[in-house]
Amino acid sequence: MEIKTNIYNIRKDIPKNVKLVCVTKTKSIEEIKQAYSIGERDFGENKVQELLYKYEHFDNDVRWHFIGHLQRNKVKYIAGKVYLIHSLDSVRLLNEIEKRYSEKGRIANVLIQINIGREKNKTGLFIEDLDELLKHCEKCSNVKVKGLMAIIPKGDEKSCSMHFRNMKHIFDELKENEFNNINMEILSMGMSGDYKIAIDEGSNMIRIGQGIFGKRIYDKGGV
Ligand SMILES: *Cc1c(COP(=O)(O)O)cnc(C)c1O
Repeated sequence: MEIKTNIYNIRKDIPKNVKLVCVTKTKSIEEIKQAYSIGERDFGENKVQELLYKYEHFDNDVRWHFIGHLQRNKVKYIAGKVYLIHSLDSVRLLNEIEKRYSEKGRIANVLIQINIGREKNKTGLFIEDLDELLKHCEKCSNVKVKGLMAIIPKGDEKSCSMHFRNMKHIFDELKENEFNNINMEILSMGMSGDYKIAIDEGSNMIRIGQGIFGKRIYDKGGV
């Protein structure tokens, strides 16, 4: 019951143009089905194996979002199964996606993940490497860039606003340009703790886990 209530409450808060991705990582099929039963279709996972397991339990009207760090050797397993990859952050990963998706004759829709807070040990691209990646994206035939994604550093409201605003600025600048294969439509930012700030700063896709499903427990074993 609580899951449904949480979703209603979040949906009440967010404008129509903002897409909600329910982050289902570590959550059971049962729990995800509760969200499904009230119409949610966008689910986010950050582990390939877990996504593949859950994929089998749902009809293909579900849009699976891959939101975690994607290892190159795992791209082949998700090729053609996910609606959107949020975490493109290197030319090597791009090349692997292009290769695996062309083998399957499928198109990969991707977001470029920016490490906007320049945090060490975090994934995502530094802004100075963006041009180089975009150049390679333009040459692809099976990869389409749909926008940007960011996970911002923990911080107070002011610091969150600043990072989100910086992302929106990059997003708007890229929008002005005409690139092959690149269409800035989606700006994926905002999680349970900061999604309202993210929306105020221009996010149009939020990724919410704990705010819907409650705290995550990581030591269950399982998948
Ligand atoms: C886990 C996760 C989320 C959701 O975080 P919550 O704090 O549970 O809302 C969003 N984005 C990414 C990339 C995640 O890994």
